[in-house]
Amino acid sequence: MQITFLGTSAGVPTRSRNVSCVALRLPQRGEVWLFDCGEGTQHQLLRSDLKLSQITRIFITHLHGDHLFGLVGLLASAGMAGDARRIDIYGPAGLDQYVEDITRTSETHFSYPVEVHTVTTGAVFEDDEFVVSGEPLVHRVETYGYRIAERDRAGAFDVEKAEALGIPSGPLYGRLKRGERVTLPDGREFDGRDFCGPTLTGRRIAYCTDTTYCRGALELAREADLLIHEATFASVDEELARRSLHSTSVMAARVASEAGARQLLLTHLSPRYAFGNRLQPDDLLAEARAIFPDTELAHDFLTVEVPRRAHGG
Ligand SMILES: [Zn+2]
Ligand SMILES: [Zn+2]
Repeated sequence: MQITFLGTSAGVPTRSRNVSCVALRLPQRGEVWLFDCGEGTQHQLLRSDLKLSQITRIFITHLHGDHLFGLVGLLASAGMAGDARRIDIYGPAGLDQYVEDITRTSETHFSYPVEVHTVTTGAVFEDDEFVVSGEPLVHRVETYGYRIAERDRAGAFDVEKAEALGIPSGPLYGRLKRGERVTLPDGREFDGRDFCGPTLTGRRIAYCTDTTYCRGALELAREADLLIHEATFASVDEELARRSLHSTSVMAARVASEAGARQLLLTHLSPRYAFGNRLQPDDLLAEARAIFPDTELAHDFLTVEVPRRAHGG
C-alpha cells in the first residue's frame, strides 16, 4: 500500500500545492483509489507516475469544491482515454445529484460504468481483502472520514516442513494452511498452526478531512498505521479553526496521540502559511511534533509506503 498526495492545500490551490486529493496505490490489485478529487486532480495525475486508467474507486469526504470540483472532469477524461474499466464513487448524500446535474447540462456521457454510492456510518466498501468504513466528522457540511483496513492474513505455510514429515500434498495442505488439525491414515496428528508463520496483520489508514477535533476522527484513527489528518491552521489561529470547523496542527496531533496511531501526516494547509509569511508550514509541524513526534508534513507528490507489521498485534 502506497500513498501519494496529489493536493495538500486548503480551499484554493497555490503555486506549490493543489487542492485536496490523496491516491492510494494497491500494487497487488493494479488499482488506485482516490480520496477527494479537488480541481486539477487529473493534471496532478499526469505529473505523477499514477495512471488514470488504474482508478477504480473514488471516496469523497464532503461536497465543498476544494474536494470535489475535479471529479467530473477526471471521469470524463477517463472515458475518452478509452481504457477505463468501471469507477465506483462514494460520498455523502447529494453527490449523486451533483454528478447527474453536471453530466446532463454538459452532455457528458461516460463510455464505462460509473456508480455513485451514498455513504453512511459503517462499512462503505468491503471485499475479501479490504474494508473501507466511513465515520461522520464535524465540519460545516455533512462530512465523512474514511478508514481503509486491510484484512489480517494467515502467515506463510511451511511446505518444506510438511514435506519433510511425509505429509502428502493436496487437500491436507489446505487444511493445515487454515490452521486446522489433521489426522493422517497412519494415525499421526498435526496441528496446522505449527506449519504457519505469524499472522500478517492488515494495515490501516485513516483519512480525516475536513474536520475540527472530534470523536469520529478518533474512531477512524484507532491504532492506524497511518493517519492523514487536516491541519488547516496553526494553534495561534485556533479561534479561526473553531469558527470554520477545521483543525489546528495541535488538534491533529492530539487525535494521533489519543488514538494510538503510528504515524501522522498533516495535509490541507491554509495558504496563509506560505513561505515568507510570519508563520510557515514548518511551524505547524513543530507544534504537532511536540505532541506527537512521528508527524510529517505532506506536500504535493509526497509518496509514502505503508509497511506491513511483521507480527500480530
Ligand atoms: Zn477543504
Ligand atoms: Zn470543507
